Formats: sequence, structure tokens, C-alpha cells
Amino acid sequence: VNEVPLNSLHFLLTYECTEACEHCFVFGSPDARHAFDLENVCRLLDEGDRLGTVDSIYFEGGEPFLQYDLLLASVQEVRRRGWSAGVVTNAAWADTPGSAAEKLKPLAALGLSDLTVSDDPLHGNTGPAANARAAARELGIPTGTIHVDAGTTGSVMYRGRAAEKLAGQVPGQHWSTFTRCPHEQLDNPERVHLDALGWVHLCQGLVMGNALATPLSDLVRTYDPAAHPVVGPLLAGGPAELARVFGVPEQETYADACHLCFALRSRLRSRYPDLLAPDQMYAEPPDPEGSL
Ligand code: SF4
Repeated sequence: VNEVPLNSLHFLLTYECTEACEHCFVFGSPDARHAFDLENVCRLLDEGDRLGTVDSIYFEGGEPFLQYDLLLASVQEVRRRGWSAGVVTNAAWADTPGSAAEKLKPLAALGLSDLTVSDDPLHGNTGPAANARAAARELGIPTGTIHVDAGTTGSVMYRGRAAEKLAGQVPGQHWSTFTRCPHEQLDNPERVHLDALGWVHLCQGLVMGNALATPLSDLVRTYDPAAHPVVGPLLAGGPAELARVFGVPEQETYADACHLCFALRSRLRSRYPDLLAPDQMYAEPPDPEGSL
């Protein structure tokens, strides 16, 4: 059993997004549902308190500004605890310099410590992204940029929708070459993503458990990576080992380690429904009317 020095919680405030980008590794879209409410945000922040190691909170999505009032109230709760708060956004709300400033002023007043803007040809949001960054600079909010180039191995991560839509556009490598997980510290995660359904993601769709069923602090304290049936093989030898343990994959070649990992995990979901979840990480939202 590991004591995990988890210091950052990343809330997927909603799966809903203004866009449905091909390179998204969450299936965010205007049709996606399931947003947090403040009660559940606070409940998980309290769990962060209980862990005693958390001092940084991010709000992501989907597009977190679609839940603007909740975003403000949540950042306020985070700052009240003395922790840092950051937001990742596509800046669709910043279509003019004035609207950018209007939305950011209250966040600046709360002491937001990072506004990271997804800004690339795949998002097609150059104007709003520039407005958001300029307004943030004016208000003293530090900014960052996430820039992804289609067709560039190592830039797009081919999981989620990106695996479905873009993986065929790059040359593949033999599955046996993907011998490590390149992006996540699965043995000792310093941050996890939390969604409104309670899932605690080590990587999108690969979960530690459900924080609505078991308190987050208990999940983290009892997390045993080697005993997790999917994480264990990934730690032992990357997605290639996962393939060996559960049967060789369907294709000879894959775009990257994440493409192979995601393909294998998609096939294993029925076997481990409580560890490979939820649907929103594996498929387009099925029914826009039938959710929260
Ligand atoms: S290899 Fe798998 S677990 Fe690691 S970052 Fe890629 S998709 Fe996530």
C-alpha cells in the first residue's frame, strides 16, 4: 500500500465543450453532459484537506467557462483554503478584448495563479486565445499555452477521440516497441483528474476508483499500483506488456504508446468496468437528452 504524495487535483468541471476537437482525448462536445455542482466540488476539496498534501487545484473540462458561476465559486473555495487555482480553457468566451476582461476580472480578484489556453490550428481559436492572454496579462494572471500540431508524433496524444480520428494519419510503430507509459506517473501520481461522476482518473479513462462510492482520501491512501490489473502491467512494461498479458492487439502497428494503450483498454472495459470508466472517456456521448 502506497502513501501517494498527491499535491494537485484537476477537476473536469464539465464534459460539455463549445467544440468537439478531433485531437481531444476526452470526448468533450456541445452534446456532452455531466457537470459538477458546488457541493461535490467542496466535498472533494475537503478530501484534499484530509490528504494533507494537496495545495494546487485546476479546473478543466470540457470547457470550464461554460460553468462560469460554478468556476468562480469553486476558485473562491480553493483560495479560501490557501491553495493555488488554475484554469485550462479554449477561450471561446473571449471573442472580444472586452468580453475577455469582463470574464477574467473576478478570477484575477480571487488570485487565479494560471490561465492556460489551448491555442492551435486544431482549435482554430487564434483570436479569442490572444484576447484571453492579453486580458490576463493586463490583470496580472500568469498565462500558459497548450499548442498541439496534428500529424506530429509526440504532440497529439492518441487516446480518446484523437485515437479514433487522427491515429491513422501518422506512421505507426510495432506494438511491441511501446514498453513504457510516456506521460503519467502511474506508480506515484502527483495529480489526478476528477469528474462529476466521481471517477478519479490516473490517465483519462484509467481510474483509481470512484470518489462518490469511496472517499477520495481512502482511495488515494489504499492505491496499490502493482495490484491494479491495468496499471500493474503498464508499470511492468508499458502498453506492450498490457498487450501480452491480455492477448496480443488487433493491429501490428500503432501511432504511439497511448494509441495502443487506449485500444487495449477499450477492449478490456467490460472486464474492468470500475477501473476503465466512464463512457465519456471512450466514446461520443450517446444521448444528449438523456443525462443530467
Ligand atoms: S500509455 Fe496509457 S496510461 Fe500512459 S499516458 Fe498513454 S494512454 Fe495514459
